[in-house]
Amino acid sequence: MSAQPVFVITGPSGAGKGTLIRALVERLPELEVAVSATTRPMRPGEVSGREYWFLDEEQFVARVEAGEFLEHVQYVSRKRYGTLRSEMARIAAEGRVCVLELELEGALRVQEEVERAVTIFIAADVAELERRLRERATESTGEIEDRIRLARRQLEQAHRFRYMVRNDDVHRATEVLSAIVERELDLAGTM
Ligand code: 5GP
Repeated sequence: MSAQPVFVITGPSGAGKGTLIRALVERLPELEVAVSATTRPMRPGEVSGREYWFLDEEQFVARVEAGEFLEHVQYVSRKRYGTLRSEMARIAAEGRVCVLELELEGALRVQEEVERAVTIFIAADVAELERRLRERATESTGEIEDRIRLARRQLEQAHRFRYMVRNDDVHRATEVLSAIVERELDLAGTM
């Protein structure tokens, strides 16, 4: 069997990565999103093992030292996020195609280290990003401002990734994203 691509979806916070990924997985059920580990607090409605594996600082560091992460970062408010090698291995062993949703630094690292990685940058207009972050209102004002500053810097990095999808319209963006994924799967001979 030929090697399956690993899809890495990245882009600024609030660009709508989560919504697009949900729509993508619904259309292409062979895809599975790897559950990352994080030290950030759980938001209302989140479940450990579904959105993330929620760990405390000590547990996270122990796993870093044990080499369990493909990549890990310290992101806004010094919270940690990391891709578990075990999640990727489980998805591959089940014959499914792995999708990673990562912030930019992690996505660049995976792009360098994993030959089969296909990176896709989801872009949105800064004013629109700001509106979505404030609407979600799960972070404090200071945190939202940090995320917006970061988003501006990140939008300038889009060219470093294989594909860029502008999420001005979620239906159109889903179409474009699905077409990219189907094409890459087709090229890899896995469809
Ligand atoms: P949130 O706190 O809103 O769930 O996620 C914040 C950011 O962390 C998002 O941009 C998300 O893509 C990113 N992220 C989630 N899991 C990982 C991971 O395992 N590694 C990296 N590098 N970023 C992650």
